[in-house]
Amino acid sequence: SQAYELGQKDQPTETLDGHRVELVCNIAQPSDTPGVLANGGDGVGLLRTEFLFESSTLEPTIEEQVAALTEIVSCLGERQLVVRTADIGGDKPVSWLTMPAEENPFLGVRGIRLSFRNEAMFNNQLEAIYRVAQWQADQGISPGIHIMFPMIATLAEWRKARAMAEAIQIRLAAPILPLGIMVEVPSAALLADHFAREVDFLSIGSNDLTQYTLAMDRMHPQLASEADSYNPALLRLIAMTVQAGQAHGKWVGVCGNMAADPDLACLLVGLGVSELSISPANVPAIKTLLRSVVYSKLQDKAQRALALPDAADVRRLYADRTDLL
Ligand code: PEP
Ligand code: MG
Repeated sequence: SQAYELGQKDQPTETLDGHRVELVCNIAQPSDTPGVLANGGDGVGLLRTEFLFESSTLEPTIEEQVAALTEIVSCLGERQLVVRTADIGGDKPVSWLTMPAEENPFLGVRGIRLSFRNEAMFNNQLEAIYRVAQWQADQGISPGIHIMFPMIATLAEWRKARAMAEAIQIRLAAPILPLGIMVEVPSAALLADHFAREVDFLSIGSNDLTQYTLAMDRMHPQLASEADSYNPALLRLIAMTVQAGQAHGKWVGVCGNMAADPDLACLLVGLGVSELSISPANVPAIKTLLRSVVYSKLQDKAQRALALPDAADVRRLYADRTDLL
């Protein structure tokens, strides 16, 4: 609205009692980037790189990837850009990679598992990312690029991905970039205290974390309404992850769809999530809302939500938001 344009758009996302939240965006294409800033986003919390070359029939070259990322950072400057390495498989096939049929693609070779089985592809992607960071640094711009690995289920996977990224960074003498993981497999949330020691940041993928926690296919037409991110089981995994991050001084974000739901955004911030990554179109509503509430009240309410037994109870608790103002 015009009021947002004139008033809050360029203000920080800060509660009435001064608690700051990073409000960033999920994007899939360079052309999405101007909308991040136009809507008042602080940066990009999730670049879904598997969509960058969706229509291409050949694997993207390093140069093509560099060009796409350069276009994005040219718009963002030093702002945060979390580049997620290719999360191919499951619900996201690409035309340039033939994947064997699987009984259960969501439980199969997807995300980091697929990258490890296509090492040249993974290394090319990492090289493109570091080259763009180097290009920024050469211009005196401090890169805001972060690298994030999808579908991490074990410490061994994280350590292998980190080692591969570091090898490229060293070979190119490129800037060191923060490295983090998606927390979207229950095992990663349950072991968050171990991960938090080693990673630079944790970003909760609530779409997959909901599906894997409840064992409900996120694409299933009959289960869509039951695969519900209000479920306290999911909230407890999120709370565990936040506590682990806080204990080790690492930021914890949420980049799944739940972060764009006004009630759940309040709940997540109340649990201590410090970054919400949502689509650019949702930024004005969430920023306006978070600027109207009191953090200490968000915290109290979130603790009450954690103790509830069912999603419906959490929904009922948040049906009235006046106690947050
Ligand atoms: C998620 O799983 O919540 C997420 C952000 O990743 P994607 O939706 O791309 O799987
Ligand atoms: Mg996911």
